[in-house]
Formats: sequence, structure tokens, C-alpha cells
Amino acid sequence: MEKQYLLAKMTCQEVENRLKECDIALVPLGSTEQHGPALPVDNDHYIATELAYRAAEMVWDSHKVVVTPTIAFGFSPHHMEFKGTITLSELTLSSLIADVCHSLAQHGFRKIILVNGHGGNETAIQNALHDLQGNIDAKVYSVSWWNLVTDKVKEVVTPPVYHACDMETSVAWYLGQRVLEDKRVDEPGKVLVPGFVIPDMLAPPPKVSTSYSMKEITDSGVVGYSTKATKEKGKFIIDAVLERLTGFIREIAKM
Ligand SMILES: [Zn+2]
Repeated sequence: MEKQYLLAKMTCQEVENRLKECDIALVPLGSTEQHGPALPVDNDHYIATELAYRAAEMVWDSHKVVVTPTIAFGFSPHHMEFKGTITLSELTLSSLIADVCHSLAQHGFRKIILVNGHGGNETAIQNALHDLQGNIDAKVYSVSWWNLVTDKVKEVVTPPVYHACDMETSVAWYLGQRVLEDKRVDEPGKVLVPGFVIPDMLAPPPKVSTSYSMKEITDSGVVGYSTKATKEKGKFIIDAVLERLTGFIREIAKM
């Protein structure tokens, strides 16, 4: 039987039939923003989309989830000094997320998982979740993929883990992204103010935070060591992400 999990490729009748079997929808979202000289600007939504597709394939035998079209734009004003970046305002993004969730819930999807590929989206996602709480007939979850596997990431990558870094390049590469291998660069990131550590998702949060443009902390657009990236590391990380993401899907399916 055809594994049809792409909502956009289903007819309305097929969606209606599917809802009798499964009420889980995955919504990939990311950004369209610079990722240094070696990775394309679609990187964050490419990864999120691939993860959602692969998770849907893995759970298909027991849970016939759907994957919605990807929200390809995110919150990226801090990347706008680099060409190719397209940003939404935080308010537009949170409204967009809420509108998509309301539409899915209106049709009967009761469990909605936002599969996020861009750290800069997290505030807008949280704002959308707050707005939706008590206001939607569905449970909405958000998963930023790296948060599922920080333990595994620590085992294999060279820090800092921040942007177009060892972790992100390895993962993208393994997932079939276009990687300009010999354009990869290493740039650890600049300290902006005393107490503001070099951005690193694996480090404790800075004692002092500030807003900044990426140009202030990196010349190349990279913060991290992308020359250390390998497909093998990417596989190690993605295998763990998918194991935990599909485990989560199977758990909420029981509810
Ligand atoms: Zn990214």
C-alpha cells in the first residue's frame, strides 16, 4: 500500500478517511536564512521536512500520520545582513503557526506536532502555544530536533553548537542536503559583551544576554566548526532524533 502521508497530495475525501484512522499531524517549520558559505539558505526547513517525512515513514505501519506543507520562512532578522535571508516578524510567524493549527483542529486533527528546525523560531512558537492554550480543540506540541538529542550531540561534535556548525552541517549532509564541501569554514564566534558567552546550545545560558546581528559575531555566517562535519556524525545524531521523535509519536498516539 502506498505510504501517503503528504497532506498536500491527498484529496479532501482521503483526509476525511485518514482522520478515522489517525488524528496526528506533523507540521515541519524552519527558516530561509544564510547558513555560511557551504550550506544553502533552505537548510533549517530542509532538515525539518526530512525529519517529518522520515518519522512518518517509520511509524506508518501502526500510525498513519500526515505531514503538512512546510512553513519555510521563520524569524531571522538577525541574519538579514547576509543575502538570501527572508524573515517574518515574530508576530506574523506566531499568527501563521496558530492559523495552521486552528485549521488542522477544525478538521479533527487532535494532536499536532510542530517539527522545528530553527532555534530563532522558538519564541514565536512559544507565543503561539500560549495563544492556542484553552482556545483550540487539539494538543499542540513543539519539538526542536536538537533538543531531543543534546546528550548524543555532546558525544560527537566539536563545540560551539550554534549555526552552520559541526552538528548542523553533519546532520544536513547526512540528510542529503547540498553541501559545498570545500567552502566549509571554522569560526568560533565573537564575544559581544562581558558575561555573554560565545553562543553554544550545549553551554549553560549566558548570565547576561543581549540582542545582536549575526554580523557582529561572525564574518562568514558560521558559528562553529563546519570542517569537522561528517555524514557519519550526522547519521549518529539523526538516528537518535528519529528514534526519540517516533517514540514520542507512538506515546501520544495512545492518548
Ligand atoms: Zn540552521
